Amino acid sequence: MRNKEVIGVYGAGSNHWVGDGFPVRNLFPSTGVDLNPFLMLDYAGPKYFPPSEQPRGVGEHPHRGFETVTILYQGRVAHRDSSGSAGVIGPGDVQWMTAASGVVHEEMHEREFSKAGGVFQAVQLWVNLPAAHKMSKPGYQELTSASIPEVALSGGGIGRVIAGELNGVRGPAKTFTPLDVWDIRMGANQFANIDLREGCVTGVVLLDGSIRVNGTPVKGEALLALLAGPGDGLQLETDAISTVLVLSGEPIQEPVASYGPFVMNTKEEIMQAIDDYRAGRMGRLN
Ligand code: MN
Repeated sequence: MRNKEVIGVYGAGSNHWVGDGFPVRNLFPSTGVDLNPFLMLDYAGPKYFPPSEQPRGVGEHPHRGFETVTILYQGRVAHRDSSGSAGVIGPGDVQWMTAASGVVHEEMHEREFSKAGGVFQAVQLWVNLPAAHKMSKPGYQELTSASIPEVALSGGGIGRVIAGELNGVRGPAKTFTPLDVWDIRMGANQFANIDLREGCVTGVVLLDGSIRVNGTPVKGEALLALLAGPGDGLQLETDAISTVLVLSGEPIQEPVASYGPFVMNTKEEIMQAIDDYRAGRMGRLN
């Protein structure tokens, strides 16, 4: 095993609110990092929200051409979309929504969580779809915490396999291209040697903690270490309790044209998406 090289460590490139419920730090693409087939990562919170009768969040908006993946750490999110899917996810749960040909949805703090108030913490990841599936039927996978297998890591800590495979254990997410998404939780003074997908760029996101990634120190909150080059080894060593999200996938070698919530291959397809949304062809929320 040869360790992949850390080619950069990045802090958030942008801080902003998504609606009135999600104060996010964006780790890409605002940093200029290309983690194809992953398009975007927003880290929301952790932030305390006081009790509110009116749930906060982001109202009706469209998506086409990719998937949105919401990973919950603290708090609860209620979602519903124009294809008829709806659900609530809590700590440890993941919602994997395939927008594909288009959905209109809303993402809100769940009502009881809003009323009680509390700390909200989540990641939203956008995963590109290959051209052949951009206009497929929308889909929705609710991956409960119980359905996500936990793998004991070599020197302590655990890896929760959301998608792909870790130490021979497969995660529940159905994906359109080969990719890995692992939620890794480690205590202080632990280590892990992990086999990565060869030939892929890998992102190691430190939500919080202090680690060395293949020898490079990464310490604090909301940091992204980018690994590239030959090799397939990842070594994590911790100095403190650390929460890490690892992303790795086979790049999709196709042109990308994006505009807000639409990610297609050509400008013409973007114009078509805007038209279709305005005309109500992505459906409406009831
Ligand atoms: Mn959305």
